[in-house]
Amino acid sequence: MDRINRVLITGGTHGNEMIGVYAIKTFLSQPDLVRRSSFETLTALGNPEAIAANRRYIDHDLNRSFGTPAQLGATGYEWQRAAVLREQFGPKGQQPVDFVIDLHSTTSNTGVMLILDSLSGFTLGLTAYISRVHPGVKLYSSEGSGRQQDSLRSLAPHRIGIEVGPLAHGTLNAELFQKTKTIVQTTLDYLEHHNLGVANVEPPTELTLYQYIDVLDYPRDGDGNLLAMIHPQRQWQDYAPLWQGEPLFLTFGQEVIPYQGNATVYPVFINEAAYYEKGIALCLTEKRVYQLE
Ligand SMILES: [Zn+2]
Repeated sequence: MDRINRVLITGGTHGNEMIGVYAIKTFLSQPDLVRRSSFETLTALGNPEAIAANRRYIDHDLNRSFGTPAQLGATGYEWQRAAVLREQFGPKGQQPVDFVIDLHSTTSNTGVMLILDSLSGFTLGLTAYISRVHPGVKLYSSEGSGRQQDSLRSLAPHRIGIEVGPLAHGTLNAELFQKTKTIVQTTLDYLEHHNLGVANVEPPTELTLYQYIDVLDYPRDGDGNLLAMIHPQRQWQDYAPLWQGEPLFLTFGQEVIPYQGNATVYPVFINEAAYYEKGIALCLTEKRVYQLE
């Protein structure tokens, strides 16, 4: 694993996720928080127009606007914005970055979640370190979800997403803000230790990871109208096991719709507000335990 020379921290990739926006403003006014001796730290607001409008995006989700050839040349504000960010920070840009930390919040009860696009030794080492310093952090592997290719953080070869919740879009929460800030700093500390060859704290011997498998939509009629809501017993229960036959949705006539799948899954992003339009009621994951050497 090579040396890290430049790190980019981004917030407001989704314009109404205010913790990331204010974290970036805080880092701009207090640069010592994110300055480290062995690499350069840059910050950027992902989607300035959407931030000004307090919306997730203007024309298209910016975090789905990077990378794949079919998307290049598409029109709309976020496609232009992605091109600007790519020219600035991408592999062939003016200031190519080696690592991106992208800050998000969710209306789901995720707590503090690290989003991992790859399970390389370097990423696992980083997450083991963060898990040791902040034991309550949850790990979510997005491998297979498409975010490796089209997300803002895919600008860099190495990256991490920080997702905190539950939080209504367009609002702040002091505790989640503070946690976001300290996890950014812990990540930078790890990168600094990596560059300087400093031994990190003793990592945990195993890591529990929630691996993305699939998504489930709400029951809908032929016109796309919702026929049911998340069942009250499932609301806020991110990471809890879901077995076949357990209540999953509740219709407006109080009829229980159970989970039909054969395998036990561990749903996350349950009832995320921004996912209604994407046809996602929850993401299904598999719980995996990694033994570390
Ligand atoms: Zn987001």
